[in-house]
Amino acid sequence: MEDCIFCKIAAGQIPSTVVYQDDDVFAFRDLNPQAPEHILFIPKRHLASMAELTAADGPLLASIFTAAKDVAHQLGLEQGYRFLTNVGPHAGQSVFHLHFHLLGGRDMGWPPG
Ligand code: 5GP
Ligand code: ZN
Repeated sequence: MEDCIFCKIAAGQIPSTVVYQDDDVFAFRDLNPQAPEHILFIPKRHLASMAELTAADGPLLASIFTAAKDVAHQLGLEQGYRFLTNVGPHAGQSVFHLHFHLLGGRDMGWPPG
């Protein structure tokens, strides 16, 4: 999608620290990390948020979650990690290309703010 920063990152037009990629999924380090490990997992195909998902996206979601747990394991996050997506302005979504945050390497509170 034109003018989508995460589409440009997935296409390599904007540099990022790539952690993982396959045909459908791209993962890179967050520019403003909120934990010692903070990685974003996105579909290469543009979707504005989780609100646009359909049942047909099941295999895509399986690929994203499987990639994330493999990366978490590679990073040694055996003590735990958080994997989340913000949907819409009330949840704090600031980039409108579906992305999941993998956060780890520190204790995290609950409930989130
Ligand atoms: P959101 O608030 O939408 O859930 O998360 C967007 C995330 O994207 C934020 O954590 C922000 O730091 C990250 N981000 C925004 N622009 C860029 C960028 O150009 N490169 C990288 N690596 N991360 C970005
Ligand atoms: Zn996009």
